[in-house]
Amino acid sequence: MIPFVDLKTQYLSIKDEIDTAVIKVLESTQFILGREVEALEKEFSEYCNAQHGIAVNTGTSALHLALLAAGIGPGDEVITVPFTFIATVAAIVYTGATPVFVDVDPVSCTIDVTQIEAAITERTKAILPVHLYGQPADMDPILEIAQRHGLVVIEDAAQAHRSEYKGRRVGSIGDMGCFSFYPGKNLGAYGEGGMVTTNNSEYASKIRMLRDWGQERRYHHVMKGYNYRMDGIQGAIVRVKLRYLDQWTEARRSHAALYDKLLVDSGVKTPTVMPYSYHVYHIYAVRSHNRSALQQKLQDQGIQTGIHYPIPVHLQSAYADLGYKVGDFPQTEAVANEVLSLPMYPELSVAQIKLVSDAVGGRDG
Ligand SMILES: *Cc1c(COP(=O)(O)O)cnc(C)c1O
Repeated sequence: MIPFVDLKTQYLSIKDEIDTAVIKVLESTQFILGREVEALEKEFSEYCNAQHGIAVNTGTSALHLALLAAGIGPGDEVITVPFTFIATVAAIVYTGATPVFVDVDPVSCTIDVTQIEAAITERTKAILPVHLYGQPADMDPILEIAQRHGLVVIEDAAQAHRSEYKGRRVGSIGDMGCFSFYPGKNLGAYGEGGMVTTNNSEYASKIRMLRDWGQERRYHHVMKGYNYRMDGIQGAIVRVKLRYLDQWTEARRSHAALYDKLLVDSGVKTPTVMPYSYHVYHIYAVRSHNRSALQQKLQDQGIQTGIHYPIPVHLQSAYADLGYKVGDFPQTEAVANEVLSLPMYPELSVAQIKLVSDAVGGRDG
């Protein structure tokens, strides 16, 4: 059996360091925030070339607080894509603002920058591009449009730790960057976690207060805040894993290069790396006009796959109140019907990649 992800093999490869780090937190009793979380904020923000890092309990909370720090609330509109994980859109709705969707570019699967301006109204406050699968959105045109219209840019970098746009690390390109440390992400905790990165000290201090009940100091609540703090244990675990992220990212990239090569004549379309991007392959998604047959064929050979994402957000019943319908975002809908995510994790072996590629390319592929 070839699993879609394998967190156990990775844990075993760093078990001593992880166990030691966890025990250290237990002995310190700094269970919430504390030294390990502060150290992670410093190390991860430096890693992203951002001046500030504010650790929170999930990637969703990171998005929620970034939007709140930008002053976004009821009556405002935030431009994003329907081809993303639901959390991107949920975070906008949490603030009371309205998500306004723009279709994706069919090649990059990230926001189609040529359609952004048509979606801007006098209520638009922010653009929230998603660096889907580990590939950055086309940030320069986004920043240019945002500057011209006075909009805030918040990067959803939950799938893109260490990814770069024209040599710039994601999380330091827009006004704020939001990361997830969900276990399956490229940099994952052993529980929930997230981080906002920013070069703006006002946003940073606002987010720092909002994540901890809006306190300026203890029991002095200057804004209506949340309990969005990171656990000390997760901080310590992510710190250990951050030291391996370059190495793990290189492994993902080399696995992707091998898939690309082996799948050339397989009948599926391999992912396109845009000229501006350093792709970190959170997801390696091929495209097939025969996706369900292909997925079934792989499953029959013991190969697990995933679909990210089968139903675009504008067609999810929970968000029917946004008023969208089938046909509104044709590229998103087409891509959602074709993508299939192959096994991808640093510990994948060459032999496993060959097995998967053979299975994809076999007859009826
Ligand atoms: C995982 C993810 C999130 C949410 O992160 P959580 O830590 O699970 O809350 C947000 N956006 C995208 C694109 C994601 O993949």
